[in-house]
Amino acid sequence: MFVHDLIRSGNSNDFVIRGEESITYGQLQSEVSEYRRYFYAQGISGGDNVGLFSRNSVEYICSYMAVISLGAVIVPLNFQLSNREIAYIIKDAKLERLITMEELKLAEPLQQIGHKGTVEQLVIPEFKKILGAGRYPEAPALSGITEEDPCVIIYTSGTTGSPKGAVLSHKNLVSNARAFREILQAIPTDTVLCVLPMYHCFAWTCAVLNSLLCGAAMTILDGFSPKETLAAIKKYTVTVVYGVPPMYNILARLGEAADLNSVRIFVSGGAALPKKVAEAFAQKYGRPIIEGYGLSEASPVVALNPPERTKSGSIGRALPGLAVAVLDENDREVPNGQVGELAVRGPSVMKGYFHLPAETAQALRGGWLHTGDLAYKDQDNYFFIVDRLKDMIITNGENIYPREIEELLYAYPGIVEAAVIGVPDELRGQQAAAYLVLAEGKTLDKKELREFLGANLAAYKVPRDFIQVDDLPKNATGKILKRVLRDKL
Ligand code: AMP
Repeated sequence: MFVHDLIRSGNSNDFVIRGEESITYGQLQSEVSEYRRYFYAQGISGGDNVGLFSRNSVEYICSYMAVISLGAVIVPLNFQLSNREIAYIIKDAKLERLITMEELKLAEPLQQIGHKGTVEQLVIPEFKKILGAGRYPEAPALSGITEEDPCVIIYTSGTTGSPKGAVLSHKNLVSNARAFREILQAIPTDTVLCVLPMYHCFAWTCAVLNSLLCGAAMTILDGFSPKETLAAIKKYTVTVVYGVPPMYNILARLGEAADLNSVRIFVSGGAALPKKVAEAFAQKYGRPIIEGYGLSEASPVVALNPPERTKSGSIGRALPGLAVAVLDENDREVPNGQVGELAVRGPSVMKGYFHLPAETAQALRGGWLHTGDLAYKDQDNYFFIVDRLKDMIITNGENIYPREIEELLYAYPGIVEAAVIGVPDELRGQQAAAYLVLAEGKTLDKKELREFLGANLAAYKVPRDFIQVDDLPKNATGKILKRVLRDKL
């Protein structure tokens, strides 16, 4: 099955998208056909890599589906990127066309932002203007490609270096949406909230493709703000929410518990969900958050807690059809309880990085996708992420996993967010330093905090420096950008 064929699976539901205007599955299908003709008329055809630079909207879904149904490959761009970063992707992915929202149109000529070639910018046609217009001639039926062919190239930092394009096939994405559905059991009467950005694979596969697959309704929001999100949940009686840890942290800290009674499933992914946040949320709203784990290179979901049997602090079990293992440096599986690198194999693992054979061979060596995340497995086959390999701190030859310290910091009264990084140290090689965001009106007593940590951690793990900041740099999936913190020092 091709990704764009998923639209047809939801015929049992009246709604696909509820918002200012709701549209049905039938309408969505005819919209995609109109967009398909339009983009074909603009010259898009099989084999092209086409950029998609847009905020969340129905038009995003229509543009994406129309382009891939012509046999072209979508390259989603994060709309928060700087011009320099955009230029990098345009060049690396060899984009000749960029589908964009009017408001996001690149004003500066690309030459000024370091790109030598030309890129045609196609403004996403407004829904109403294209609706039923029948203005453009029919585009030829899709031929010559199979579901094993690329559907999307997602730019991700991966484990090291500059962003690389993970090439995902139609089969990669469809298999992941299907496997995810087996655990999450979304149903046609569900209304799914899509507030995470669609350019990220978490939102695209879980919120969009999985809803289409299940015939569920969807409510689309363009970014998270507590007020709007809570209002939308109430207004559209949302039943499934996909979120990232900072979003749940904010909801757990609201002065008054909001009305989230319609929601039966809260899913968290994209970054580690601190235990304290999960506990505070469950206490306030009487329901657990279901944590999952994934990465773009795996389309993205790798593991998920079964809703009826979640384990605190765990990312859950391997998705059906995927083999997930914890490996040592020689790619041998380690015994339960022992920490190693998490690795995945199966139908949703990427084809490779776009035109980077050496990096692809390295990431996929031995047939396993090496995730760059350190983890262990318990006796019930639940996985626990310890930290990212590259965030590990080595002090006097001892390993420090920042996450262990961060979990304690989140549990300390008055601390809202915490990030621990390694800083160079003449004697020990590296030492830990903690960045902290405090609750309003709180002050930090470093001596007391040091004592608290000292009582719970080996002395070498206690951070040397505590740095109070107003906020921490984060990306849209809630990952704290430790690289930015390290660069600051
Ligand atoms: P991306 O490719 O942008 O989706 O980022 C993937 C990375 O996010 C993974 O390699 C992990 O480091 C991190 N990640 C995703 N989900 C979790 C989770 N539940 N716990 C810890 N880290 C996570």
